[in-house]
Amino acid sequence: MKVLAVDVGGTKVDIGVMQDGTLISKDRFLNSPNGNIASLIASYGQGRGIDAVGIGVAGQVNYETGNVIFARNLRWENFPLGKLVADELNIPVFVENDANIFALGVWKYEFHNEPHALLGITLGTGIGGGFVYRGEVLRSPQGATLEIGHMVIEAGGPNCTCGSEGCLESLAGGWALEKWYNDRTGEKVTGVQIHERARAGDQEALYLYQRLGYYLGVASGSLANILNPEIIVLGGSISSTYPLWKDIYALEFKKRALPPLKETKTVVSNLKDAALLGAAALAEQGLTR
Ligand SMILES: [Zn+2]
Repeated sequence: MKVLAVDVGGTKVDIGVMQDGTLISKDRFLNSPNGNIASLIASYGQGRGIDAVGIGVAGQVNYETGNVIFARNLRWENFPLGKLVADELNIPVFVENDANIFALGVWKYEFHNEPHALLGITLGTGIGGGFVYRGEVLRSPQGATLEIGHMVIEAGGPNCTCGSEGCLESLAGGWALEKWYNDRTGEKVTGVQIHERARAGDQEALYLYQRLGYYLGVASGSLANILNPEIIVLGGSISSTYPLWKDIYALEFKKRALPPLKETKTVVSNLKDAALLGAAALAEQGLTR
């Protein structure tokens, strides 16, 4: 089986070809919100003997229709991405939210289809979630399943990009971390720089990661009580900072999780090219049913 795997981000599009479980090619393209992403994907796939396409998008997606319901970074609303690509390539095209794809990818390619219930959490500028239960991604036609970045953790807390207040993302998202650092020090620095400063012993940066770990522990403990995952897998750029806050995270998780769930394992994904492998898994799963 040969599938095209695509990860559409706000500023770049990664495309790869996966043949029988191995990524045999991989390329990155810069994109602009007005770029013709459907044509880019289709032209990459032309003439490669592809059986299907799997596409991950940061936004709400209707898996059944392949429509992107809403993607803020791409300025897409009810955009028929799946249909546009399928019309050009004449093969099945599957589109899904990127965090759902992350969860599916690690379930299949990192944990070898084993966990009966896997919760994936993507920590980046925003926070996403995906849940794989007995091999199936939990999803709905509205495309907003497991939008854990907008789960309210602190009612009346900081303003969120979604218009609500106190969402997990407004307390532990990459954008919130940068904003806190700026508010507290007057310095505008990137998340990568804050991470470097924390590792160099910057007290302010270290404190902010403790705060981030605290809120993620609170959120994960509550999520464990709702979903009862066998394992929680963290991914996304901020997951590399886990050693800085894993103790407070574990403490808060244990405080919140019910007795049978207190020992639930949280790990950071080691899967290289997780977004592309997840997109490939989506296409492979779509083709085999
Ligand atoms: Zn929100």
